[in-house]
Amino acid sequence: MIRADAALMGADPAQPAERSAKAKQLPPASRTDSTGEHLAYVALGANLADPLAQVRAAGRALADVPECRLLRLSSLYRSAPVGNRSIRGQADFINAVAALHTRLTPSQLLDALFAIERLFGRRREYHHAPRTLDLDLLLYDDQTVDSQRLRVPHPRMHLRAFVIAPLLEIAPQALIPGRGSAAAWLPAVSMQGIARLAD
Ligand code: AMP
Repeated sequence: MIRADAALMGADPAQPAERSAKAKQLPPASRTDSTGEHLAYVALGANLADPLAQVRAAGRALADVPECRLLRLSSLYRSAPVGNRSIRGQADFINAVAALHTRLTPSQLLDALFAIERLFGRRREYHHAPRTLDLDLLLYDDQTVDSQRLRVPHPRMHLRAFVIAPLLEIAPQALIPGRGSAAAWLPAVSMQGIARLAD
């Protein structure tokens, strides 16, 4: 396990994953473009039942959501559970972040994410239960949403290395409305254990 800043900055700049990430970096989220598409970022996480396979398959499932186009899926990362004692006792997570172009509203996109979670057999037995698959809507253009069922930007995304590291890999300029640049949060999460996995 290595620290988030080391995982992100990478010891070997010639790594293919880094070269391709640099070549295809996405712009900061902005308002709808002229095609009516919105830029959304989704966090993927799993820590049960072959989590590597789950996250890879979830990436494919995101690509199949109607009215959505998968633009980028980050590398996969292994992270230590973060949170209270019941979470810290769980198995490591596999995480990634996806960038999507979508014509869905934030609420419709959340429904689509719930549908994929159900497809992957996630049961909401209790809050913070180990999960076959967890999908969170991180960012949607530069919009903020604060409803009972949905908060965007995701309220804890800036505190999680397993979100910030993969997000910066695919969108180094990403902005978190109300919190500034995602990159500025890297020092705050750099002590959290996370490792980028080889492609
Ligand atoms: P969790 O069990 O951590 O995945 O939390 C899921 C709950 O958080 C659901 O009840 C969602 O309605 C709510 N929620 C609020 N904001 C978000 C968001 N940005 N992405 C995903 N779930 C959200």
